[in-house]
Amino acid sequence: MKRNVVSVSNQRLDLESEEEEEKEEPRGLDICPLCLNKGKRVFKKTMSNHVWPKYWKLIDEQGFFFCETRPCLIVYFNNDKSIYFGLNDLHSVVMHKLAIESLFRPVCYCMSVLEETILEELLVKQCCDSLEDIKAYTSANKGKSCVITNPSGRCCGKPIKEIIEWAREKREKADEEVLQEAEACCVAILEHADPESFRNISL
Ligand SMILES: [Zn+2]
Repeated sequence: MKRNVVSVSNQRLDLESEEEEEKEEPRGLDICPLCLNKGKRVFKKTMSNHVWPKYWKLIDEQGFFFCETRPCLIVYFNNDKSIYFGLNDLHSVVMHKLAIESLFRPVCYCMSVLEETILEELLVKQCCDSLEDIKAYTSANKGKSCVITNPSGRCCGKPIKEIIEWAREKREKADEEVLQEAEACCVAILEHADPESFRNISL
């Protein structure tokens, strides 16, 4: 099933949903009409800092929500007035809409910290495994202007915790692969070894 809305720049924003039939869908002023997830209320001052100035007149203090669902093409919505902002209607790069490991993915908009800097600490230097460590080593999450600088109007602590968790799983998986490879190698050596060859080994 496909849902769509038309954005402020007159573009059709689509989202294919996995449900085949039309079911009773959640409705509400805070529900994103594409992904049907609950949005987060945003202030006018937040939106004004991220949408192109030509749309400033459309923004009100009330009625706008931010959709943080990754594949959803809507960034800000006002269901009451049917106003929808897609990615192209903003001059900011919205980290929430980019997958982890996307090139130049911003994380901390106050201190200008990219995700690659945080991943380097987590995966290359391996010196951090908590939000406190990331704060200390990268300055991320130390700003106080999230309501203006972050397109969601919220702090970057939650996304950083997601990145920490993602990196921890990646590290564990990599360790497991090394161990499996090492074990498989020993088994292969024992299986293919000629028992005679062990007899001549002098200790
Ligand atoms: Zn959405």
